[in-house]
Amino acid sequence: ETIAHEIESPIPKMPPFDYAPPPYNGPSAAEILQKRKQFLSPSMFYFYNNTPLNVVDGKMQYLYDDTGRRYLDAFGGIATVCCGHCHPDVVKAIVNQTNRLQHCTILYLNPAIADFAEALASKLPGDLKVVFFTNSGTEANELAMMIARLYTGCHDIISLRNAYHGNAAGTMGATAQSNWKFNIVQSGVHHALNPDPYRGVFGSDGKMYAKDVEELITYGTSGHVAGFLSESIQGVGGIIELAPDYLPAVYSSIKKAGGLCIADEVQCGFARTGSHFWGFESQGVVPDIVTMAKGIGNGIPLGAVVTTPEIAEVLTRRSYFNTFGGNPVCTAAGHAVLKVIEKENLQENAHVVGSYLKERLNSLKDKHEIIGDVRGRGLMLGVELVTDRQLKTPAKVETLHVMDQMKEMGVLIGKGGFFGNVFRITPPLCFTKEDADFLVDVMDYTMSKM
Ligand code: PLP
Repeated sequence: ETIAHEIESPIPKMPPFDYAPPPYNGPSAAEILQKRKQFLSPSMFYFYNNTPLNVVDGKMQYLYDDTGRRYLDAFGGIATVCCGHCHPDVVKAIVNQTNRLQHCTILYLNPAIADFAEALASKLPGDLKVVFFTNSGTEANELAMMIARLYTGCHDIISLRNAYHGNAAGTMGATAQSNWKFNIVQSGVHHALNPDPYRGVFGSDGKMYAKDVEELITYGTSGHVAGFLSESIQGVGGIIELAPDYLPAVYSSIKKAGGLCIADEVQCGFARTGSHFWGFESQGVVPDIVTMAKGIGNGIPLGAVVTTPEIAEVLTRRSYFNTFGGNPVCTAAGHAVLKVIEKENLQENAHVVGSYLKERLNSLKDKHEIIGDVRGRGLMLGVELVTDRQLKTPAKVETLHVMDQMKEMGVLIGKGGFFGNVFRITPPLCFTKEDADFLVDVMDYTMSKM
């Protein structure tokens, strides 16, 4: 008699996809690795495995290596490729604009820049109507922090202890995880308790964490602050959805202290959470400043800060300038992205497929003791691995092992969290239920073999 659990589960099969990448005749992965070590970074730090992929083609939710092998990209270029790799509408917009005019700064008028600013502003609530373009999320947050400081005349900014907001001087101050910090001057930022329902000291009690911000203002500042900067779902931090009721209480304390509320939507914006277009909407707040990057251009270098006309006015007192920020090729891409999200109902898809995927991951949790937590919203999901559910001991080595095995089976996921033990699942928003099944089956298969 065969016992059910002894039956080998079949090797999961990747859903079919009708695309053949062009032949690749370039240098081998080994040669490229050699160049990378010599001319880019000698460190293997960034790679999730010892044999890094040489990625040469991409189509929608798939990436292809130099042998033409297909991989399901469930990391989406770090939550960046929202419409899908080389989405034809985005490519067309880029090519058309490139043929017409590649570069133009704000010293001149240009329709590609103005039209996108208008379209972007229309996606934001309230009075958030003035757009400043940047090239990245770091730049967007640097600018937002500067605006808050100029507007309020205060220096103190509050961010969260598990935050990642970028890697320049100001934003590295706001970034709290020591893994991402260098010892340079990062003045004026205070880090509040992380409202993390899984690991945080107050569990899911958002209001208690909000009291910590109140205390920080009282004890750590003059009583007046420039602002508060946070994501509503932390990405690099390990897909942590801030405890419910947190942001409304904190926003109210910050406003009382004369500060501005800044929402970092770099990862959780652009329909990724499924339930809303912007992450902050899930907590029912309206920020004073919103920063964005990643998904805004589907992988094209672009970022933005959106604020109200009254706050934006502070930048007219001197000349604020960014040579490449809002380059017409990038804004043409951004405009195409907004249209694709609408036309292809990607927010709804993120909601439907994301909910399905989360449900399936939760059943995997029932089966595999190593899964300590499944969380997130839409197509921004996290799976935290622990060696002991009670103690929540981070399963760091196992995380890397599962990722490596999944890659061998054709599924790419990311990892994050302070301990590096959280899978980050942030695929292009065109991800299908079949893709979700394949991902979960591969994860299940891999974990069953551990
Ligand atoms: N803010 C958040 C929430 C991020 O996740 C990141 C990057 O991962 C940044 C800001 C910085 O963006 P960039 O890498 O484009 O500078």
